[in-house]
Amino acid sequence: MKVLKFGGSSVGSVNSILSVKKIVEAVEEPVIVVVSALGGITDKLINTSQMAADGNPAYEKEYRDILNRHIEMVYTVIPAGEARSLLLDQVNELLSELKNIYQGIFLIRDLSPKTSATIVSYGERLSSIILATLVDAQWMDARSFIKTEKKHHKHVLVQDATSELLHKAFEGCAERVVAPGFIATDINTGEITNLGRGGSDYTAAIIAAELGAAELEIWTDVDGFMTADPRVISSAYVIDQLSYVEATELCNFGAKVVYPPTIYPVCHKNIPIRIKNTFRPE
Ligand code: ADP
Ligand code: ASP
Ligand code: MG
Repeated sequence: MKVLKFGGSSVGSVNSILSVKKIVEAVEEPVIVVVSALGGITDKLINTSQMAADGNPAYEKEYRDILNRHIEMVYTVIPAGEARSLLLDQVNELLSELKNIYQGIFLIRDLSPKTSATIVSYGERLSSIILATLVDAQWMDARSFIKTEKKHHKHVLVQDATSELLHKAFEGCAERVVAPGFIATDINTGEITNLGRGGSDYTAAIIAAELGAAELEIWTDVDGFMTADPRVISSAYVIDQLSYVEATELCNFGAKVVYPPTIYPVCHKNIPIRIKNTFRPE
């Protein structure tokens, strides 16, 4: 079994999400796909909530952009039929909840951390149901098995409870599963939380380690782990192989290609991480 994680850039446009479909469908063994929000959506969800909290009515236009991106994605990548109608019902329901939450923030001019966490969760909840329909996979809700608790003002993973719930959730699951990355719930209150910005990599690593995956593939927009960020250093090149320790060190020093906590769970189980380019799968 393999775990494949696709970041926002891999599901940012119609063409890239169609590449994801090809990549997933080419996997000839059981596969769990973890997906981030559509590229740019997490930032937009956050900015829009800030606008609403500031009493800026232009938040409504931002919300409509979010709505249009998802609805257009569904119409362009999913052929007309029963699956599309079912998906549209779910997408519209999520979007109308989101609209109500934004309206509430605008009316009372208040944005608590709890509300913010709820708002950002819609990114992955939407992208994952779209991808699950696109690749005809079972959808599983990461909020039901990734559990966090608040420690020193941060939401940290509760390892034991997550392990138990995750094993139960995946027992007898389909050969192809899609789950949202990043999002979680608080072990005590059940409130929606998340694993921090970039946290979908971590979700994928937790699942891979718990279920003993043969490999964790992080699909993104670069050919591999590089000597530097190619957006900053044009002469950066791909490093063939890195030890877990070297990778951890580079991630801690800002190599954004992998979210730092991702390495530990897979290192512990000696599961290789492979960085792959959705735009150049070969
Ligand atoms: P995703 O949306 O797939 O999670 P990210 O933007 O989080 O993608 O991570 C990929 C980006 O990380 C690349 O586009 C690149 O600009 C940046 N990056 C920073 N440091 C490195 C590095 N050492 N090697 C590769 N990419 C890096
Ligand atoms: N969508 C979340 C973010 O933008 C999580 C992720 O992409 O890994 O931070
Ligand atoms: Mg990332």
